[in-house]
Amino acid sequence: MFKKILIANRGEIACRVIKTAQRLGVKTVAVYSEADAGARHVDLADEAYCIGPAAAGDSYLRGEKILETARKSGAEAIHPGYGFLSENADFAEDCAKAGVVFIGPPPAAIRAMGSKSAAKDIMGRAGVPLVPGYHGDAQDAALLQKEADKIGYPVLIKASAGGGGKGMRSVDKAADFAAALASCQRESKASFGDERVLLEKYLKRPRHIEIQVFADTQGDALYLFERDCSVQRRHQKVLEEAPAPGMRRARRNSMGAAAVAATKAIGYVGAGTVEFIAEPGNGKSAGTFYFMEMNTRLQVEHPVTEMITGLDLVEWQLRVACGEPLPLTQDELAITGHALEARIYAEDPAKNFLPSTGRITHLSTPAESRHVRIDTGVRAGDAITPFYDPMIAKLIVWDTDRSAALARMRAALEQFQVVGVTTNTEFLARLTACEAFATADLDTGLIERNRAELMSAAPVAGDEVLALAALAELLAIERRAEERAAKSGDPCSPWGACDGWRLNQDNHHILVFLQGEREQAVTAHYRPGRFELELPGGRHTLTGAWQADGSLTAWLEDVVLRANVVQSGQTLDVFFRGTRYQLELHDPALHEIETDAHGGNLAAPMPGKIIAVLTAAGAKVAKGTPLVILEAMKMEHTIIAPGRGTVTEIHYKVGEQVAEGAELLGFELEKN
Ligand code: ADP
Repeated sequence: MFKKILIANRGEIACRVIKTAQRLGVKTVAVYSEADAGARHVDLADEAYCIGPAAAGDSYLRGEKILETARKSGAEAIHPGYGFLSENADFAEDCAKAGVVFIGPPPAAIRAMGSKSAAKDIMGRAGVPLVPGYHGDAQDAALLQKEADKIGYPVLIKASAGGGGKGMRSVDKAADFAAALASCQRESKASFGDERVLLEKYLKRPRHIEIQVFADTQGDALYLFERDCSVQRRHQKVLEEAPAPGMRRARRNSMGAAAVAATKAIGYVGAGTVEFIAEPGNGKSAGTFYFMEMNTRLQVEHPVTEMITGLDLVEWQLRVACGEPLPLTQDELAITGHALEARIYAEDPAKNFLPSTGRITHLSTPAESRHVRIDTGVRAGDAITPFYDPMIAKLIVWDTDRSAALARMRAALEQFQVVGVTTNTEFLARLTACEAFATADLDTGLIERNRAELMSAAPVAGDEVLALAALAELLAIERRAEERAAKSGDPCSPWGACDGWRLNQDNHHILVFLQGEREQAVTAHYRPGRFELELPGGRHTLTGAWQADGSLTAWLEDVVLRANVVQSGQTLDVFFRGTRYQLELHDPALHEIETDAHGGNLAAPMPGKIIAVLTAAGAKVAKGTPLVILEAMKMEHTIIAPGRGTVTEIHYKVGEQVAEGAELLGFELEKN
């Protein structure tokens, strides 16, 4: 086994690799960007080296700097994690030249699978079924349009070099093809430095099923069963599971055999994933599966495989990279129980899953156990920046069967509480509760089809939530009064009293809570040892206190309410019975409700670069007209006209960087 390895990555996967290395007695070297100086992976590693500024191109993608760090620190091998340099054949080659082991497949195998088009060629020749489509070298727009017409709409345009759902556009009709192609090429160029695309027939209700493979340097290969990753948004996985619900033994064996054949065909070594898109059978036919691509690295969702096999795939990676044979044979592998993984992202499902940046001010997670695993690289106080993937954590659960695992997932999601950025936890909770998911009626369109149910607005704070929020604020008022009294040098002064006593006034507080646009008032009357609350639903007695674990307990009459309440300034986040309620304490003296009669200006939803201006000052546009395209976090975001109106001014040129909230253009909404 290696004595010391370097992990050329950050976040949860760097932490994940360090954990196994430490268990095996292998010393670890972390690398980090200036933005990550205080990151968890830096703290966990035995040594850590700064490799440059925040932007990935200046740090985590700097192969030569990373290799230099490996040499300097005496690391014998480099684990690339996923993303960044993990599928970079040149880097793997440079490692070999420098005498450092790249923990991954040989450069030739990475290269062979690096382009989706080339990979399809190889697989087609090896007899693996392919989705009908075009993956040729010729790339001129007219030819591509002709090929798309031939395939028949809907058609999917994919970046050949693509990954992570980027550079992918589905096109419903011939007239939309040219614009979608241009946008896809732009995004591919920006993300992968390569604008080549391929075309595929867009399957209507497919499932994404992938096979985990492993191969060693002795020429042996096997598969560690499948994962179902059909639940996706923006063609990106969000909820994964193993085994795939409804998977028959014969189907599993044939997919496994195809995956192993693919692995052997390219002389693969290490951990890999062969992704298939599957069309379900309909009683008469058994359904089909088609090769999509092979990922030549450890996959984000590998933990579900670990949970059902009881194996540590990072340990296997290290052993294979050292030249050891595969630890087990195909016959020795078995599936036990069912595992689910939910990816918790800093993103806003209501805004088409736009990443959310900011500092995590509060992070509380369920306890880890045999049933619950959390892979994360983020701690309270850390920032989610636009520089990297906005994933906060992977929440993985295991139990003896799917429904028991699902119950565990729902309970764990309720306990996963984040304040400071918008997250998808409630969306995930709804997703795991929805009928289609619960009954495993899975396909890649599940989220889109159930959008209305999954996106429903947060429930209105009722009396119980308002009572909890009021209690938190009343206790805060009490604490502030005590602090003032202590500072004043006269702790017994009536001015430091916190019982609501006022000269010539009724002893009460009126607390006005805003939840979005909704305003609700709570009047709290001070009584000895308790409050009398006037809530929208009636008058009730309230007592309560903070608990040692940071939670808040309230007694509303004789009902006990427990919640986590996080207060920062005027904002209160109440986590109660699995729902997060975001309330704003409204001080009428401080705020004047602003109404914007002009429809306002269109602001950048996040920091980014302007890559296209599609309009001009003076242009009259219809509602929904695309105006500006912003590239942020390597994805394109189109800013559209909020209604019919006139563009009055354009504030930025193509290529310019903009800050979050920057007005991109002036816009006058037309009055009806
Ligand atoms: P990436 O490498 O960007 O993840 P993939 O080729 O793996 O791209 O595809 C990502 C997802 O897009 C798939 O899991 C599936 O949901 C969807 N997809 C890909 N190809 C097709 C297709 N031909 N028809 C329908 N959906 C597809």
